[in-house]
Amino acid sequence: MSAIPAHARVVIVGGGIIGVGLAYHLALEGWSDVVLVEKGELTSGSTWHAAGQCPHFNGSFALSKIHLYGTQLYPRLPELTGQAVSWHGCGGIRLALTDEEVDWFHHVHAMSKLIGYEAHILAPEEIRQHHPFLETFGVKAGFLTVTDGHVAPADVTNAMAAGARKLGTTISRRNRVTGITHLPSGEWRVSTQAGDITCQHVVNAAGSYADVVGAWTGHNVPIANMLHHYVITQPLRELIDIERELPVVRDPYSHSYLREETNGILVGPYETSGAHAVFEDGIAWDFESELLPPELDRLTPWLEKATERLPLFGKGGIKSIVSGAITHTPDGNFLLGPAPGPPGYWLAAGVSIGVCQGAGAGKYLAEWMVHGAAEINMAEFDPRRFGNWATKEYTRVTSVNDYQHMYACLPPGKQHEAGRKLRMTPLHDRLAAAGAQFQQVAGWERARWFDRTGMGEAYSFRRGNWFEPVREECMAVRNGVGLMDLSTFSKYDVSGLDAEAFLNRMFANAMPRRDGGIVLAHLLTAGGRIEAEMTITRLAEGRYYLLSGATAQIRDLDLLTNGRRPGERVTVEDITDAYGTLVSAGPLSRDLLSVHTSANLAHAAWPWLTAKEIEIAGVKTRALRVNYVGELGWELHTQMHDLPVLFEALTGTGINHETVVGRLVPVAQRPVPAVPVTLFGTYAMNCLRMEKAYRGMGSDLTNEVTLIESDMQRFVSLDKPEFTGRAATLASKQAGPRTLLAYLEVDAVDADCLGGEPVFSGGRLVGVTTSGAYGFSVGKSLAFAYLEPGIVAAAGPDLEVQILDHRRRARILRQPAYDPANARLRA
Ligand SMILES: Cc1cc2nc3c(=O)[nH]c(=O)nc-3n(C[C@H](O)[C@H](O)[C@H](O)COP(=O)(O)OP(=O)(O)OC[C@H]3O[C@@H](n4cnc5c(N)ncnc54)[C@H](O)[C@@H]3O)c2cc1C
Repeated sequence: MSAIPAHARVVIVGGGIIGVGLAYHLALEGWSDVVLVEKGELTSGSTWHAAGQCPHFNGSFALSKIHLYGTQLYPRLPELTGQAVSWHGCGGIRLALTDEEVDWFHHVHAMSKLIGYEAHILAPEEIRQHHPFLETFGVKAGFLTVTDGHVAPADVTNAMAAGARKLGTTISRRNRVTGITHLPSGEWRVSTQAGDITCQHVVNAAGSYADVVGAWTGHNVPIANMLHHYVITQPLRELIDIERELPVVRDPYSHSYLREETNGILVGPYETSGAHAVFEDGIAWDFESELLPPELDRLTPWLEKATERLPLFGKGGIKSIVSGAITHTPDGNFLLGPAPGPPGYWLAAGVSIGVCQGAGAGKYLAEWMVHGAAEINMAEFDPRRFGNWATKEYTRVTSVNDYQHMYACLPPGKQHEAGRKLRMTPLHDRLAAAGAQFQQVAGWERARWFDRTGMGEAYSFRRGNWFEPVREECMAVRNGVGLMDLSTFSKYDVSGLDAEAFLNRMFANAMPRRDGGIVLAHLLTAGGRIEAEMTITRLAEGRYYLLSGATAQIRDLDLLTNGRRPGERVTVEDITDAYGTLVSAGPLSRDLLSVHTSANLAHAAWPWLTAKEIEIAGVKTRALRVNYVGELGWELHTQMHDLPVLFEALTGTGINHETVVGRLVPVAQRPVPAVPVTLFGTYAMNCLRMEKAYRGMGSDLTNEVTLIESDMQRFVSLDKPEFTGRAATLASKQAGPRTLLAYLEVDAVDADCLGGEPVFSGGRLVGVTTSGAYGFSVGKSLAFAYLEPGIVAAAGPDLEVQILDHRRRARILRQPAYDPANARLRA
C-alpha cells in the first residue's frame, strides 16, 4: 500500500479497465491530480478473466463511437505508453437468421460509414470464404467487421495505467476504499485503508461492488452481476495448420461468440434459460482474481448448438472453463456520467462489454468531467435516466433479461416484457381497453398507438402494421380532436422571490414577463451545448411551472437544484408523480373543452402560448395553450388522481362526476356534443411534430450541438447579460456553425428514417439523420439531419439518404411541411 495524497481533484474507486481507462483519459485531458484506488491488483475484479473481444457491430450511434475508439487505440497503446499489448485484429462475423436481422444489418451497415469502420454484408456462401469451418444452416447473411479484434484485458489495462502514471496519475493498489462522505464544502471525502482523500470529484468505478459503494452515499446504482462462462478447447490440428486467425463469430442460433484461442476454440454462450444473478447478498471484500463455480448443466444445450454451428468445436476436448461476473443494467447500457444528487459524484459502472468499451467510456467520460460535455451524445448512458423507481427487484429481473437477450435483434419499438407495469397513470387500464400498445419510458407505461385488431405490433425496421392506424390517429388530430395521456412529462414547480432571475440566468431564452406566459427554453453547458429543454409557464409572479421529457426527470431536477447559488431564494419541487397531463389537440379541441368549462376559450381571451388555472369538469387544471403536434389545443395538467375525471368527461365515457370528485359539477353534466374524440399515442405525435419541424430533445437536440447549430436561434435571448453558455453561443454564432440542422423531405418507399442514416451529396458523405417519420397529412416522409453548413446553404443540393439497403433522394425543406405560418395554432 503506497502513500496517498490528502487532496486530489479526482478519486477513482476501482482499478478495472473502466477506472483505469478513465484515469488515462483524464490525464490526457490534462487532469493528472487524480488518485485511483484499487483494493486488490489492477484488473483483479471482472477484467482479468474477460474473453477480450472488441466488436464494432451495434445499433447505437454513440456506443459505436465508443467501440471504435477502443479498437483504434488498443493497437497503438505500445507506441503511446511503452507497454506491450497483444492485439489480435482477426475481424468478426455476425450471423443473421431472420429477415429482421438482415434489415438490422443494413441499418448498421449504413451507420458504419458514419462511424468510420469497414463492414460488409456477406451472402451465406461468402461467409465460408472467411471462415471455412463454419456451418451456415439457417443463415441469411453475415456482417463482416474487418477491424474487430480481441486483446488480453490485463495488457490494455496495464498499458493505460502506465500511460496515466507517466502523466502524473497516482495509482494506489491494495488499498480499499471504506467510505465516501459528502462534505459541507461540497467536496467529497474518500476514506481508504491508507488514509482519507478530500476531492472535488469521486468516480464510482467499482465494477461488481458499484451498488455497495453507491449505497454509502445513498446512490441507487441499478446493476446486477450475471454469471457468465466461456470454455476453451485443446489445440486443434486444423487451426494449427491455417495461417491466418479466424474471425470471431457471433451466432444467434447458439447465442454464443466463437473464436480461436491458442489454436483451440473459445465459445461463450449467453444462455436464454437458467441465467441468473450472483452476489445478490453482497461480495466479500477479499474476493479477488477468483472464478465462480461453473454451471455446466445450463451451458450444455448452448454448447451443443455451438457444435452444430462449428463442428470443429466438438472435436477438441475442453481445456478450461472460465466463469465470472459481468455487471448488467436494466436497459443494457452502462451508467456513465453524473450520479443523481449533489455534483461531483460520477458513475462509471454497469459495463457488460468493458474490455471493448473501457477506452471509449474513459475518453468520453473524461471529456464530460473536464469540459462539461462529451463530443458524443451521452444521454443513453446518463445514470440519471434511472430514478428510485428502478428498485432492486426491477433491476434484477431486467438485468437478467438483458443478459438473455445479448444476441437478440430488437427492431424499432420492440421492448422486453420483463419489469413492466412499474409506473402507470390512473388511465392505464382505460387506454389498454382501447387497444393501447404501450412502451416503457423511464419506468412509465406510455401508449404508442391504439390497435383495434387485437393483434399487437408486428415490429419491423420498415413501416409496420401500426402505419394505417397511426394515419387515422394523425388525421383525427388534424381534422377533429385527439386526446393523449402525456402524464410522463417531468414536472417541476419553481418558486420564490428570486425565481425569475434564477431562471433567466439558467436558461438561454428570456422568461415570460406576464402571468400565464409560456416559453420554450434550454439549459446549456458553459460550452454552449444543449443540456436540457423545458417548457416554462409563469403561473404568477415568482411561480413557474416547468415541463421536460420523461427520461430527464432526475437530470433536470439536478440541473435546476444544483444550479442555485448560495442564498438564492428559489425552491425547486419535482411534482412529476403528483401531476398528470392530457393533451387535447385538433381544430375541434375548443368545442370539446367548452362543454366542460366556463372559462372563455376564445382566441382573443386566451391566445396561443398562454396558460390559465381553470376548472374543467370540476377539476382544477393548469391549462396550457401549447402542444407538440401543431394544432389548436391545450395541455391539461391536473392532480394525477383527478385525471380519470377529466378523461371520462372529455371522452364522454364519464360516469357520474358527482360521485367521482365528491361535489356537484354542473357543466360536466351537460351532454357531450357530437365531437368524436380520438385517442392518439407517441407514434402519431412523432409524425405530427415532424410535419411542424419541431425538434426532438435527445435526438435532434443533444449535448453535441449548440442552439445555433440546431437552427434554434429564436430561442436564444442574447440580449440578456448573463445565462449559462451565453459566451459560447455568441461565439458559435459569430464563428458560424460546424454543422447545421436541415429539415428533409425524403423519397422513402416502405421505411422512413429512424435517425443514424448517412446523407450523401454527389456520392459524398455530408451528414447524418437524427430522426424521422412519415407526415400523413402532407404525404411526405420527413427527417432531420445534421449536414455540412455549405450544403444547407446551397440552393437545391442533390441529396440522398441511405435507408436500409437503398439510397433515397431527399430535398431540404426551408419551412415546416405543415402550416408554416402557424395559423392553426393561432386559430
Ligand atoms: C467470462 C467473462 C467474459 C467476458 N468477455 C468479455 C469480452 O470478450 N469483451 C468485453 O469487452 N468484455 C467481456 N467481459 C466483461 C468485462 O469483463 C467487464 O465488462 C469489465 O471487466 C468491467 O470492468 P470494470 O472496471 O467495470 O470492473 P472490474 O474489472 O470488476 O473492476 C472494478 C474494480 O473495483 C475494485 N473495487 C471495488 N470496490 C472497491 C473498493 N471499495 N475499494 C477499492 N477498489 C474497489 C475491484 O477490486 C475491481 O478491481 C467478460 C466478463 C466475463 C465474466
